[in-house]
Amino acid sequence: MTVPSPHSPRPLRPNERILTNEDGGITTPARAPSPVHEFGTLAVHAGSPHDPTTGAVIEPLSLSTTFAQTAVGKPIGLYEYSRSANPNRDNFEDAVAALEHARYALAFASGSATTATILQSLAAGSHVISVSDVYGGTHRYFTKVALAHGVEVTFSPSIELDVEELIREQTKLIWIESPSNPTLSLVDIRNVATVAHRHGILVVVDNTFLSPYVQNPLDHGADIVVHSVTKYINGHSDVVMGVAAFNSDELKERLTFLQNAIGAVPSPFDCWLAHRGLKTLHLRAREASKNALAVAKALEASPNVIAVNYPGLDSHKQRAIAIKQHRDGLGGGMLSFRLKGGHAAAERFCQQTRIFTLAESLGGVESLCEVPSAMTHAGIPKEQREAIGVYDDLVRLSCGVEDADDLRKDVLQALEKAVVGPKISNGVNGVNGVDGPLPRR
Ligand SMILES: *Cc1c(COP(=O)(O)O)cnc(C)c1O
Repeated sequence: MTVPSPHSPRPLRPNERILTNEDGGITTPARAPSPVHEFGTLAVHAGSPHDPTTGAVIEPLSLSTTFAQTAVGKPIGLYEYSRSANPNRDNFEDAVAALEHARYALAFASGSATTATILQSLAAGSHVISVSDVYGGTHRYFTKVALAHGVEVTFSPSIELDVEELIREQTKLIWIESPSNPTLSLVDIRNVATVAHRHGILVVVDNTFLSPYVQNPLDHGADIVVHSVTKYINGHSDVVMGVAAFNSDELKERLTFLQNAIGAVPSPFDCWLAHRGLKTLHLRAREASKNALAVAKALEASPNVIAVNYPGLDSHKQRAIAIKQHRDGLGGGMLSFRLKGGHAAAERFCQQTRIFTLAESLGGVESLCEVPSAMTHAGIPKEQREAIGVYDDLVRLSCGVEDADDLRKDVLQALEKAVVGPKISNGVNGVNGVDGPLPRR
């Protein structure tokens, strides 16, 4: 497989040509994104041409499912039928490709549909190696669906150490999630990719937890980067969508074929919304990381907390990988922690927060909290869960873009209430005793 330079420009689509002034043609100024531009500039401008007829600076929403042809097989423009391609999806894909330093990106109806399409590209009899603590839905797809079409997945809790010995003749893919969910452990992508490429195996990195702003896996040797766009890329908790980005022409051909043949594609409107969200990704990801660091430090200093998992903390056991792989050593917006008082305290914590909403998902502008052992990871048997650090008293937080001080205070007040336990209402301390000073342990 040839891996071209990540900085080669996107190849032209059929019928497409670059209009310059010498062409005498009317066109918007050439504002094609280029790797000389920084992330924020690309986020705002990549895949965002001015409308050539009206000059609209925001792309129009193109809902048409079909496109007129002047003669049989001669469409007027680039498009024929919107499952195969449509303007809003193309623009979104171009934007993601630019942000992930990829030549190509393909959008899907969800992160899960992205995973499914990549797994579908493997022949029956293929073998996959995956990190153990993958996203629950990915684990479910690997064990319950991929197996049914003859693709076997081996899970490893320490892939950097085991990868060489887990490789078989039929191994085609290695699946990494870094940071992992919900324990935020990291994988050195370069180390795994070096071994994989010696054996001609492709490496996929699920980059959902960090977003392309914090980490670009292709720069560290990965062959495909996938996202649940539902999370940071859209960032406003109002679209379910996925995307894969990569450099190889061979992958482009295979995955484009499957994108169209399987048809698990997003609507133009969802592409438009996700593209709008993506334009502020750098602002949101920076703010979420700053907030998560403030919350993680406050938790680490609290006597009510047993341990904090956050790659932005110096205490994180793989902090060196974060410094190497993440932009400016940022930790991202996700963290998890164990608190005193067991599972009951974890549940109480999530009921006592005033800004963090008790809900699954992550990566939106609003902060969320959840108890993985009873929610996102409830499907994994207890011993298996605890072996990967998902204890009953673990709470996962997705820090949004509210003010750091408010988030820090919210977490600390909820912690006090959760660990001390429900206060008996005696009407003396504050209104009904609820808001009064709490006894300390
Ligand atoms: C949410 C998520 C997915 C699945 O994405 P959907 O858009 O919900 O299908 C995959 N990987 C990770 C890390 C996720 O958080």
